[in-house]
Amino acid sequence: MKYQFKVTQTENSSLSKVDFNNLPFGKTFSDHMFVADYIDGHWTNMEIRPVAPIPTHPGNMAWHYGQEIFEGMKATRDAEGTPLLYRPEKHAKRINYSARRMAMPEIPEDLFIQAVNTIVYMEKAWIPPQPGSALYIRPFMYATDETIGVKASDTYRFIIFVMPVGPYYSQPVKLLAQDIYVRAVVGGVGDAKTAGNYAASLLPATMARKEGYDQVMWLDAIHKKYIQEIGTMNIFFVIGDEVVTPNLDGAILDGITRDSVITMLKDWGVRVSERPITIDEVVEAFKAGILVEAFGTGTAAVIAPVAKIKYKDTVMELDQNIDKISTKVYNTVNGIRNRTIEDKFGWIIPARP
Ligand SMILES: *Cc1c(COP(=O)(O)O)cnc(C)c1O
Repeated sequence: MKYQFKVTQTENSSLSKVDFNNLPFGKTFSDHMFVADYIDGHWTNMEIRPVAPIPTHPGNMAWHYGQEIFEGMKATRDAEGTPLLYRPEKHAKRINYSARRMAMPEIPEDLFIQAVNTIVYMEKAWIPPQPGSALYIRPFMYATDETIGVKASDTYRFIIFVMPVGPYYSQPVKLLAQDIYVRAVVGGVGDAKTAGNYAASLLPATMARKEGYDQVMWLDAIHKKYIQEIGTMNIFFVIGDEVVTPNLDGAILDGITRDSVITMLKDWGVRVSERPITIDEVVEAFKAGILVEAFGTGTAAVIAPVAKIKYKDTVMELDQNIDKISTKVYNTVNGIRNRTIEDKFGWIIPARP
C-alpha cells in the first residue's frame, strides 16, 4: 500500500460487550479510528489509534465558521466473513466535491480509499453478520486553525471512525412537505455533504416530528413547489409505470444509493426519469389513483418506504400491501452487499489486509 499509517492498538477492546442483535443506530463505536492532519499544504501524521475524544482549542475555526464535511458509507461481509466495501471510489470523489465547495483541501482518492480499507479490515470483527446490518463508516474533515476571524482555515483534520448498525427505520416513514422553511438553494451548499445543511434542517424536522412525521420533504427555495429530497435521503415516486426522482439541480445531494437505484431500475427495464417534479404533480397523481409508491434512498436506511405524505390539507396514505419496487430494490442492494446476488455492476470491493 502506498501510504504508511502508524498503528496503535487498543488495550481494552469493547467488542465482547456488543449485542449485534440489538444495535440502536449510531451509538456503538468500534475500537479504532483513522486520523490524519493537513499541515503546510499536505496530508501528514497518518495513524490508526484507539477511539477517544479529540481535545480542541475553543478558538478552533470549525466551531465558529462551520468548515466541516463528511461521508456516510457501509461495509458488509459475505458468508465467509470477507469484509466488503460498497462503491468506495464514489465516496472518495464526493468528499472531494464537498471539500472544494467548502474551500477545504482535497484528500487524494487513493489515500481516502486506503484509509477506509485499512480501518474496515482492522475492525472486520465489528461487521454484524445479520442481513440488513452493516458497519457504518463515517469519514469527516474539519478546520483546525485556532483563529477568530472569517477565512478558510489553513489546517484540517481528517478522521474515519466506524460503528456497527442495525436497520435504520423499522417502519415505513411519514413525510411532511411544508413551504415555510427551505433546506437549500441552487448556488448554496445543498449539494455538499456538510454539517450546516443538517443544522438548518433541525428546527423544521423537530416541528414535523411534533405533528407525527418522521422527516420533512423539502421543496425548492424559490417556487416552493419542486420536490428536492427528504432529510438524509433522496426521494423516488412511482407514478403509473414511471419511476421519478428529482434531477440533480445543484441544491440536491448526489446520493450514491440514488445512483445505485437508478442503475438497477434501468437494468431491469423500468422506466426511470430524473426530472423536476412538483408537489402538485404528486398530489394530482395521488388523487388520480396512480401514485403507486414512494421511497427514500440513502446509505443509512438503504431504502425507506413512504407510508404517508402531508402537504397543506392533503394527506396521502400509500398502500404498503402491494408488490413494491422498493422491496425488490432493497433486497437486491442487500443481496449484492453480502454477495448472495451477483455484483454485476462491480460495486463491491473486498477490504484487504
Ligand atoms: C448523504 C445524504 C443523502 C444520501 O446519499 P447516499 O450517498 O445515498 O448515502 C441524501 N441527502 C442528504 C442531504 C445526504 O446528506
